[in-house]
Amino acid sequence: MRIALYPGSFDPVTLGHLNIIRRASRIFDRLCVCVMVNSGKQPMFTLEERADMIRRTVSRLENVVVETSEDMLVKYAKDIGADIIIKGLRAMSDFDWEFQMALARKIIEPEIETLFMASSSKYTYLSSSVVKEMAKYGADLRDFVPREIMGDILARMGK
Ligand code: ADP
Repeated sequence: MRIALYPGSFDPVTLGHLNIIRRASRIFDRLCVCVMVNSGKQPMFTLEERADMIRRTVSRLENVVVETSEDMLVKYAKDIGADIIIKGLRAMSDFDWEFQMALARKIIEPEIETLFMASSSKYTYLSSSVVKEMAKYGADLRDFVPREIMGDILARMGK
């Protein structure tokens, strides 16, 4: 069974993330979406809140599971038997850092491959930060995030 891991901070999950989840879930037997800590960012939602929001949006995808972890990415991948890490690429600006990290992971854990999936052109502009910026002003979020979680974001922003 081929297990792939799609890691990220997903603070919160966007339609861009969901697009990658759907497409990756068609390629692999099982896709584990893991909400992880990004020490460089101050999160709006806890790891569990973020995982719960993703679970609500992927409940119909039978081979997708959603977990949280504070571990190192390659260690977590190994623990769950995933030998593929999926990364979504929006633009060249994502590439530099992701490429460096993929090479570093390969040194630590040579058996694990990183696969880059190109963002759908519809969502290349979209990031969790864009969503938070829009939500601050109570904007309509329907073009940015799954409808199941729109209320959670606006409520957290006090809107
Ligand atoms: P961000 O805060 O930038 O949205 P995340 O850590 O939550 O970043 O992203 C998790 C993964 O999803 C990363 O591989 C990232 O490149 C990818 N990703 C984020 N937004 C999109 C998008 N709009 N389209 C495709 N991939 C994306």
